[in-house]
Amino acid sequence: MSRVYNFSAGPAVLPEEVLKQAAAEMLDYNGCGMSINEMSHRSKTFDNVIQTAEQDIRDLMNIPDNYKVLFLQGGASQQFAAIPLNLMKNKKAAYIITGQWAKKAYQEAQKYGEAIEVASSADKTFSYIPDCSDLDIPEDADYVYICENNTIYGTKFKTLPNTKGHILVSDVSSCFLSEPVDVTKYGVIYGGVQKNVGPAGLVISIIREDLITDDVPSYTPTMLKWKTQADNGSLYNTPNCWSIYMCGLVFKWLKEQGGLEEMKKRNEAKAKILYDYLDQSKMFKGTVRPEDRSLMNVPFVTDSEELNAKFIAEATKAGFVSLKGHRTVGGMRASIYNAMPIEGVQKLVDFMDEFEKNN
Ligand SMILES: *Cc1c(COP(=O)(O)O)cnc(C)c1O
Repeated sequence: MSRVYNFSAGPAVLPEEVLKQAAAEMLDYNGCGMSINEMSHRSKTFDNVIQTAEQDIRDLMNIPDNYKVLFLQGGASQQFAAIPLNLMKNKKAAYIITGQWAKKAYQEAQKYGEAIEVASSADKTFSYIPDCSDLDIPEDADYVYICENNTIYGTKFKTLPNTKGHILVSDVSSCFLSEPVDVTKYGVIYGGVQKNVGPAGLVISIIREDLITDDVPSYTPTMLKWKTQADNGSLYNTPNCWSIYMCGLVFKWLKEQGGLEEMKKRNEAKAKILYDYLDQSKMFKGTVRPEDRSLMNVPFVTDSEELNAKFIAEATKAGFVSLKGHRTVGGMRASIYNAMPIEGVQKLVDFMDEFEKNN
């Protein structure tokens, strides 16, 4: 068996220790004689799994007691609808469009009320984060929405927008648990876990308690009403037991590694290796304005489609896989999430350097 260096944007690399533990527990979880995939979600054993996972993510992110942690299905995309359904009391919200995911959330919100674009970086293929220090946000907007790390374009908000007192809602799918955050600055902070945390099909929504109410439109699907999920401890129906279990293992792994401060240090060190190389390369170029660069997703190009294709093919053969960029950006993208070891990035850069010399 040999593992590759997997630069996929998502589903993405998971810590090897976690995969090994899951494999070891597959036939007999903790002396139960069955796997997590085979037991009732109402069993004592699973209850312990979900409770422990919640406590561990609370510890990691320092989540205050007045925030609920919900383990939901439907991915981040399902929350694109749940957010306006649960929060649009005045039927109005401000959206900052920094890429395809923010745009999808904005378009979904338009079904339920007035979604207003208050800033955008579409003019330059989303290669930067717009200035959000003094936005024209309607007084009666119910919330301000951002996608904090733009998976496809490789940008990240380094400072949060000035919401002028409005609730901030943030999609952190591709930077979840990559560095410490101040949860109190958000009304809702949520992410699909398949980028930086666990297996696909689970979205974790961290929501300030006062925003979880019965005051939703009557047509709101029961499953999309946050109160339904909060009142039932995320067990209104059968949840994604497998993903919750796997995320729980990743939370333990993160704690053992030293938590989010340590992750931030490692992620900065990894990203620096790649960006430093790109900045001096005569062949490869980063596509993002330097001050807005993501620590997680690093898009880059050469000036020829042919060379891009050749690079991707040779890299794949050498064991550096899933480097093809998103179709809307072209070129390459290296996603270097928590579970990507620093050697993986160093070896990729060595390979790029070699390729540059030979081509
Ligand atoms: C991948 C991604 C999504 C979509 O996630 P799903 O779980 O597939 O719905 C949304 N937002 C961001 C930032 C993403 O990276």
